[in-house]
Amino acid sequence: MPSVFIKTYGCQMNERDSEAVAAQLVAKGYSLAKSEAVADVVLLNTCSVRDMAERKALNKMANMIGIAKKERPNQVFGFMGCMAQSRGQELVDKLPDVDLVVGTQKFHRTADYLDEILAGRREKIVDTAAEEKSEAAIREHLLNGSAQKSVSAFVSIMQGCNQYCTFCIVPYTRGEERSRTIPDIVAECRDLVSRGVKEITLLGQIVTSYGKKEKREEWRINGASASAPGAPKRSEGGSTLDPRPSTPLSPFVQLIEAVHEIDGLDRIRFTSPHPKGYGDDLVEAYARLPKLCESAHIPVQSGSDRLLKIMHRGYTRERFLGIIEKLRRAKPGIGISTDIIVGFPGETEEDFEQTLSLAREVEFDQAYIFKYSPRRDTPAADMPDQLSTPVKEERNERLLRLVNEIAARNYEKLVGTQVQILVEGPSKKNPARMMGRTRCNKIVVFDGSDRHRGQIMDVKITRAGSFTLYGDPAILE
Ligand code: SF4
Repeated sequence: MPSVFIKTYGCQMNERDSEAVAAQLVAKGYSLAKSEAVADVVLLNTCSVRDMAERKALNKMANMIGIAKKERPNQVFGFMGCMAQSRGQELVDKLPDVDLVVGTQKFHRTADYLDEILAGRREKIVDTAAEEKSEAAIREHLLNGSAQKSVSAFVSIMQGCNQYCTFCIVPYTRGEERSRTIPDIVAECRDLVSRGVKEITLLGQIVTSYGKKEKREEWRINGASASAPGAPKRSEGGSTLDPRPSTPLSPFVQLIEAVHEIDGLDRIRFTSPHPKGYGDDLVEAYARLPKLCESAHIPVQSGSDRLLKIMHRGYTRERFLGIIEKLRRAKPGIGISTDIIVGFPGETEEDFEQTLSLAREVEFDQAYIFKYSPRRDTPAADMPDQLSTPVKEERNERLLRLVNEIAARNYEKLVGTQVQILVEGPSKKNPARMMGRTRCNKIVVFDGSDRHRGQIMDVKITRAGSFTLYGDPAILE
């Protein structure tokens, strides 16, 4: 059978989609190649969120095709994912040697399409059509094979986004929000746990909107008695979950509860939520559900109310700060990270100062800063007052300096404390050492061995580096 190499650009959703496609191909008998130079099939899973990501993928494909023409004339090339969805046939018109273009609702068709191309039944396939129930088709996992079992896994719970932030291309490339059912997701999680997974991250473009669009009666939130399909039942005599929640539960929190019931699962995380989805039920869940890790990645994007409105974010600075305060009250020490855009069209120095002051006020443990990149067909791309590259770069540097200073202080405060980690495997930077993650989502590197993989252990922090903590191996004994 042929070998395949998949290169992934962009976010965690793309990583997960690539993993599912790879697992589907392996199930059909394909092998996974170590690089494009030795693969029969090369697939690029693309990202459209930034112009740079699109250009990188296009250049990569053009280079690979150039080399293949001389050295590997039978190599098959394909685009998948967001850029494939937004550009479709245009990609083949631009690069006629591309054989396959698979949109975001067609990942699960990739293996069949490759079979047809490799067997010579079809020369080229471009499929970017919408497909009902495709949100439930991303379910296979590789888990790194049997020798090096993964202890954490990502589970896709929904696809798409209805928020239409004015800078974002995702609603156009991923489509409307579509959620899987709770039993379907729980079955996938149970299977992962039976294969050794200890930590599950529930994944979606806007996970806090999970189940909200589904109009079925049983999904509707109508007091504690109404529940999403498959949610844990709350009997008169008391629930398996304790203490009982004081507010009606959104479908997303019902899903977290259902996953929480799985024996053998130690930790639950989710990404990415939207601030407007942080209701009291979710805040309370952190205090109520011990498996839900005390870490929250909440994209704020700007500290200026004026810009938040133009971005169509659906919350104010005050509401965002209120959520952070409630979370810290519910779970002191919770790890909080965010995404921020600098240089959005029309951003004044005063708007930017408000972002700086918000960063100072919240003291994020980590902040991912993005220089605004105009995306075609999004409202912000046509807004007046687009900022120059030097202005964006200067603001990016100022904010980066500030968030790094604050994060370094936060990390330094952990030196001398004892933290609980889940050991994931060898450290990426130094494979001779092991690496684990705290409940607050901080990486800890320590001298351990493979027998610690998958274990939950307490480690004493001896040193803090740049977004990495170092643990004392003595505590392991
Ligand atoms: S919430 Fe906004 S930024 Fe996030 S995926 Fe949806 S449109 Fe994009």
